[in-house]
Amino acid sequence: MTIRQNLIAGEWVGSNGSENINPSDTKDVVGIYAQATTDDTRQAIAAAKAAFPAWSRSGILERHAILRKTSDEILARKQELGELLSREEGKILAEGIGEVTRAAQIFDFFAGEALRLAGEVLPSARPGIGVEITREPLGVIGIITPWNFPIAIPAWKIAPALCYGNTVVFKPAELVPGCSWAIVDILHRAGLPKGVLNLVMGPGSVVGQTMLDSPDLAGITFTGSTGTGKRVAAASIEHNRKFQLEMGGKNPMVVLDDADLKVAVEAAANSGFFSTGQRCTASSRLIVTEGIHDRFVDALTEKLKTIQVGHALKPETHVGPVVDARQLKQDTDYIDIGVKEGAKLAFGGERVERDTPGFFLQPTLFTEATNAMRISREEIFGPVVSVIRVKNYDEALAMANDTPFGLSAGIATTSLKYATHFKRNSEAGMVMVNLPTAGVDFHVPFGGRKASSFGPREQGKYAAEFFTVVKTAYTQA
Ligand code: ADP
Repeated sequence: MTIRQNLIAGEWVGSNGSENINPSDTKDVVGIYAQATTDDTRQAIAAAKAAFPAWSRSGILERHAILRKTSDEILARKQELGELLSREEGKILAEGIGEVTRAAQIFDFFAGEALRLAGEVLPSARPGIGVEITREPLGVIGIITPWNFPIAIPAWKIAPALCYGNTVVFKPAELVPGCSWAIVDILHRAGLPKGVLNLVMGPGSVVGQTMLDSPDLAGITFTGSTGTGKRVAAASIEHNRKFQLEMGGKNPMVVLDDADLKVAVEAAANSGFFSTGQRCTASSRLIVTEGIHDRFVDALTEKLKTIQVGHALKPETHVGPVVDARQLKQDTDYIDIGVKEGAKLAFGGERVERDTPGFFLQPTLFTEATNAMRISREEIFGPVVSVIRVKNYDEALAMANDTPFGLSAGIATTSLKYATHFKRNSEAGMVMVNLPTAGVDFHVPFGGRKASSFGPREQGKYAAEFFTVVKTAYTQA
């Protein structure tokens, strides 16, 4: 098998490879990917720094053309790249193809943004003087991504970084280098000048840490765990560098007595269990008022019985495997914790065997949970969901907000009054009415509050906040 190499200063380099393993079938090696060293990472940062002056002044038509070409190729290859994504991460093929399509849409959107970047012209407070407010590129951006969206998250960080004239050092998650390598290869062939985008695959402790310790990164955009996010923040403050963090969630979905039961069950099943519950926007707390509680739990349990867990590429599969052995242990440890804490295991909880060796876990539903339990407070990041019974809307809203996190929140109701009140009073960055808490558009802002996020929003035109720096210029004519 040929080694997929790192891209540093426009050259493919590296011979020391690591295997990318399919979590649906651990005998299936998806590919071998080079592991960057500290030295490689430093060279990548130096290359991005050297490329910055020219790229930051490049024409908007050049940026537009490269991003458009990238979008077109990703879309033309969505079946192949969707399969690669499903093989390396374990989400089912329909979700894999959907995520690849979204990556193409993101590149297309930012191709357009390259043409639309505008500033402001204002009169000065002093007569005869004009004021111009413009956005300039930030510099070298470090991009550090997690494993759960192997192509969408790299796309929504790389596309705006390049669109606004920054150069990039990109470190994907160790578990899923395949899709990252593919989009870097596409961008490189689409005509990016040498050093504008550098790929350094490898462990967070080596590659990521070297990026954190570099004085030459003007910004780091990170999605991952809260623990690593705090390290990114501390190192960035040390180096006086801009940073943007997307971390965990413990997203609530409120179900009120007046909800359409079918809508509520579909939304809960989707946001709790699809993509194996491995989405930071997954609902892991279902907060249900007592008038609908038993009917909701019965209907959701019936739905869970129909969910097929299995190999991500099999057409009958609804939910693929957990991403790896470490995550599976975390999930099953939390299931044990839930049982010990006194929640009732209403469905699932067991590992399941399939024809291929993989990390398969049943969708798991706890009932009679309280919001104080660890399974209700800590992010599990698996197909494990708790139902919490409440008396009324007021109690539900208070409980929805009673969490260290604030990424996404949902409500299932047919009441305009409660839907409107919830939208206004939820302490989450994204609020969904009669929809899953997961599943967002590519052209509008994404991000959370409290321990979920730090810094400006990602995606849509709001991305300019992070990827540019504002200049105010005064002219006396
Ligand atoms: P998870 O536990 O979900 O894998 P992490 O926060 O560990 O989340 O990983 C998210 C990304 O952060 C990955 O690309 C990982 O390699 C990287 N990472 C991990 N440790 C560090 C570190 N010390 N410095 C920089 N990046 C890191």
